[in-house]
Amino acid sequence: MFRQIKVIYLGFISLLIGMRVTAQNFFAPAVTLDYPRKKKPMEHNFRGMVDLIPPDCVICYQCIKICPTAALFLSHTQKVEAEKKVKEITKFTFNAELCCFCGLCDEICPTDAIFMNKLYEVSAFSHDQILSIDLMNPNKYKHLDSNYSLDAEINDNKLRTVGIAPKPAPAAAAVAPAAGASPANPAAPAAPGPTTSTATETKPADGGPTTNPTTENKQPS
Ligand code: SF4
Ligand code: SF4
Repeated sequence: MFRQIKVIYLGFISLLIGMRVTAQNFFAPAVTLDYPRKKKPMEHNFRGMVDLIPPDCVICYQCIKICPTAALFLSHTQKVEAEKKVKEITKFTFNAELCCFCGLCDEICPTDAIFMNKLYEVSAFSHDQILSIDLMNPNKYKHLDSNYSLDAEINDNKLRTVGIAPKPAPAAAAVAPAAGASPANPAAPAAPGPTTSTATETKPADGGPTTNPTTENKQPS
């Protein structure tokens, strides 16, 4: 008998404790969001989909070379205008299925032309919609997110940081070659990333510059 009374007593105490917790949280501010009506803004270093500012691209192929999954495809033509060689992008696409969202293309780009935007609601109705996204199209992600705006993503990207340090400005990358460059050896180290922003003008594409005016990178279909 005494044991049964004790069990009822402890159950009642437990109930009161539970109700106290419920009452405390009932009047406390909510810690969850009414998603999808409300959305949490992404952090500055969030890595969403790969995006591009086409006029800023200098066709250096650094992003293509560093991409570990061959998710990017770039090709260009070269013509002569007023006795100057002019490069022009013919195709620049992004395969979201291959991408591992490592952000290396963003970090290596000497002009910040390519960057990771903040899109994360990118479910598609068809497989084809994510296999070959045209990075030259300013509305490239409208079919995945109707609220997508390239201008808004560019403005967000200006606030982006890598770790805790501010992202270096493009002007700083242009200063770098002077430190390690040797005038006596112009053909030497063109490999390391950001220092090649000016060297890209003379860097030949892999397939022989004089016989084939169009250059492409390899990409598995
Ligand atoms: S984020 Fe990484 S995997 Fe994706 S395109 Fe850029 S370099 Fe390639
Ligand atoms: S690294 Fe930047 S500038 Fe070079 S090809 Fe890629 S997007 Fe263009």
